[in-house]
Amino acid sequence: MAYDLDSVRSQFPILSEKVHDRPLVYLDNAATSQKPQCVIDAYDDVYRRVNANIHRGVHHLSNVCTSLYEDARKTVASFIGASDASEIVFTRNTTEAVNLVANSFGNKFVNPGDEVVLTVLEHHSNIVPWQLLCQRRGAKLRVVDIRDDGSLRLDQLGEMLSQKTRIVCAAHVSNVMGTVNDVRQIARMAHAVGAACLVDAAQSVPHFAVDVNDLECDFLAFSGHKIYAPLGSGALYARRHWLDEMDPWMGGGEMIDKVSFAGTTFAEPPLKFEAGTPDYAAAIALAEAIRFVQKIGLDNIAGQDEALARQTIDGLQSIGGIRIVGTHGPHSGAVSFLIDGVHPYDASMILDKMGIAVRTGHHCAQPLMERFSIPGTVRASFGVYTSKDDIDALLNGVERVKQMFA
Ligand code: PMP
Repeated sequence: MAYDLDSVRSQFPILSEKVHDRPLVYLDNAATSQKPQCVIDAYDDVYRRVNANIHRGVHHLSNVCTSLYEDARKTVASFIGASDASEIVFTRNTTEAVNLVANSFGNKFVNPGDEVVLTVLEHHSNIVPWQLLCQRRGAKLRVVDIRDDGSLRLDQLGEMLSQKTRIVCAAHVSNVMGTVNDVRQIARMAHAVGAACLVDAAQSVPHFAVDVNDLECDFLAFSGHKIYAPLGSGALYARRHWLDEMDPWMGGGEMIDKVSFAGTTFAEPPLKFEAGTPDYAAAIALAEAIRFVQKIGLDNIAGQDEALARQTIDGLQSIGGIRIVGTHGPHSGAVSFLIDGVHPYDASMILDKMGIAVRTGHHCAQPLMERFSIPGTVRASFGVYTSKDDIDALLNGVERVKQMFA
């Protein structure tokens, strides 16, 4: 154990809740994470002490709140290795960040006959915005397959890329399988044909150190709520030249320079892409969540995650009669599986009665389910507070489920 797990766990009030009279075993972190006291306090503090709308005010509280919001932007920038805070656009979540790129980049640079390349393992939020774009612009969507072990067919990506490709969009980590894609290689391959690259980092940023320069990507999206921050916080990283070249997606207050009926000019990035009053309380608390994970250490978190995934997979395999979906390791943050002869919903309902929260279903990745010809999976996903005991509880629960259906 590379960090003091008990001390980390003690910072999450919800972990002392009981579920069906059992201690909570929360293994649904890929859907959303729980919040430590420091993040709850940071959020609360905005409303208790400093709340005032940002940017437009000249009064004291507005200035304090604006500084906290812009400091949060700097914290996000340095957390993911962006060279300048202006490359960070605050969004509500990953979904909004991808939609921003699909609209602002897509409407300008994707033309009839052009191609947008995705992978079959994407979350719906990195599929549907691109489908809508392609319909709007008369462009073609192309999809890179995986192997049966969940690894991405980079060979197929190589064959698919051409001068027609405008952008390649890929998840860093699969939210279903916990498999890790080589997004730096994907970015390099995209750039070799003059295309841009968007990384959906929703499932990587909470689990290991991510650096946009190291990944060489043009865009990177993540959600605050999956990294111990409040709902409504998230960010898009975009290389500054794209932010300069792209037109705004949404119009409104905050994003303008001068408005008249003769025409409107826009604010400099990133504000050009932040129309309306943002959830500044959530953004400020996101910075606190980042400091929280940095204090534990991203490398420590990554090591712990990998050990938990190994314990889960080894344990499930030794039970027998279990199919792991996506065996290509190392896994980061999540493991999906099916129990022979048991519908995933039945398995999850029984586990719930034991206080074990896992997610069941298609995990917003229906094309991936179709690829494996399965209706869904049971997914266990980990957070900084996940213990070996939690995994033991899951494994015991799975054994019970098997006995009940024997
Ligand atoms: N991408 C991935 C890989 C995800 O796991 C998720 C959330 N499950 C999303 C995108 C969407 O995140 P959000 O709903 O916070 O926008």
